[in-house]
Amino acid sequence: MADFVGAVDQGTTSSRFMIFDHDGNEVARHQLEHSQVLPRPGWVEHDPVEIWERTNVAMQNAVRRAGIAATDLAAIGITNQRETTVVWDPRTGQPYCNALVWQDTRTDRIAAALERDGHGELIRRRTGLPPATYFSGGKIKWILENVDGVREAAEQGHAVFGTTDSWVLWNLTGGPRGGIHATDVTNASRTMLMDLETLDWDGELLEIFGVPRAMLPVISASSHPEAYGRTRTSRPLRSAVPITGVLGDQQAATVGQVCFGAGEAKNTYGTGNFLLLNTGTRPVRSGHGLITTVCYRFGDQPPVYALEGSIAVTGSAVQWLRDQLRIITDAAEVERLARTVEDSGGVYFVPAFSGLFAPYWRSDARGAIVGLARYHTNGHLARATLEAICYQSRDVVEAMQQDAGVRLDVLKVDGGVTADELCMQTQADILGVPVSRPVVAETTALGAAYAAGLAVGFWRDTDELREHWHESRRWQPQWSDRRRADGYAGWKKAVQRTLDWVD
Ligand code: ADP
Repeated sequence: MADFVGAVDQGTTSSRFMIFDHDGNEVARHQLEHSQVLPRPGWVEHDPVEIWERTNVAMQNAVRRAGIAATDLAAIGITNQRETTVVWDPRTGQPYCNALVWQDTRTDRIAAALERDGHGELIRRRTGLPPATYFSGGKIKWILENVDGVREAAEQGHAVFGTTDSWVLWNLTGGPRGGIHATDVTNASRTMLMDLETLDWDGELLEIFGVPRAMLPVISASSHPEAYGRTRTSRPLRSAVPITGVLGDQQAATVGQVCFGAGEAKNTYGTGNFLLLNTGTRPVRSGHGLITTVCYRFGDQPPVYALEGSIAVTGSAVQWLRDQLRIITDAAEVERLARTVEDSGGVYFVPAFSGLFAPYWRSDARGAIVGLARYHTNGHLARATLEAICYQSRDVVEAMQQDAGVRLDVLKVDGGVTADELCMQTQADILGVPVSRPVVAETTALGAAYAAGLAVGFWRDTDELREHWHESRRWQPQWSDRRRADGYAGWKKAVQRTLDWVD
């Protein structure tokens, strides 16, 4: 039997391929960034062809680095940036336009119109999502209405939609004319077109968005032995490896953190932050600005749901310091710069570049830096950026505790930003709860590998997976209650400014 499982992680900033062994340890990886196309304020695009090419190279290189043959892979899982919308011509494999990335706010008028036309309640009830620019439905509508010829092509079956899991799967399983057009329940639950209870496309929602059903992929379980086919025998792997797991990145991280019981939660710190709380086999509706989403579905077992607090801009605020302000040259430098000062000196930075997501859901909010005096330096701004990551997470934790009535004992964390020790200490200080990082920090890829491996019997069950989880580092809160309360009150005032700005 093959000794390894592979995972494609098609993320917002990069695509990687990782190979894991039976103990869930990383054997090899290769990762390549792709371009962030920012043609206008609020617009964020990716080139799907570039994404596929980079994924392809990452797969070949990771297998070579591992010193194995593709036939040593028992299965492959795919995980992906969610909501990002690709529309392509299935006859040629060519996208009609760049992908509209989840952070893109060009659909703000579409989102506002949904509310104005009285569809908000139906959408919330059926999909668990608030009308916002974030989700795919509005992005598909925008492409149908604004890219020449796509509406007619879609009506003739010559334009299909997919999030990047579907795009990669379609390319991996077919020749230039493509292969399997499918997605999993977790990705489908972010389109705003799927009924959270039936787990199928909803006719009424398709009508509201004007999306022809023929454009949409088949929805399957997140872990399934047949639904996703096998890799084609040409590039990148040159052999038919079963693809048996597909999960949106945040749901994959929840699986990678082995949050298999109701009440278990994780927070991922990447481009944005995403806190997911497993709520078991019934969807829990939020009264405090969280999303209800599918957490995973393994085979024909009942689906498991989650409450999610999505934050648009966290790690990408660090990228902004690097790429736009140029006060650092790489992301890791933000920690050194922040350590040049004792604290943020009363400066708050609310990076509402894509509006504010959970728990505010204000597509029209825009960023602010408040509390500046001449005394302040780049160091204070760096610290305020790290604190913004942590305060936004506190907003979400507060909402989650109110919705689910659970008190967090510890926060399990993962993602690129968790390499930042100061940020993690600050998170424990701002929450007043210990923060725990596992040994395998690549929980997103690991979760996709777990889903794939479970489907082919590489791993027996979720109890076996739990045994792989080990803590590498824990941060204890150090701030006094007074400092924590004052700091948070200041943050709430700063957030209010970003909302007042547009009122
Ligand atoms: P994604 O999967 O969303 O592409 P990753 O988990 O790879 O994201 O994390 C990348 C993000 O982490 C980037 O936005 C980057 O700015 C941020 N980042 C990486 N290293 C650090 C660090 N040491 N301190 C703070 N932020 C960091």
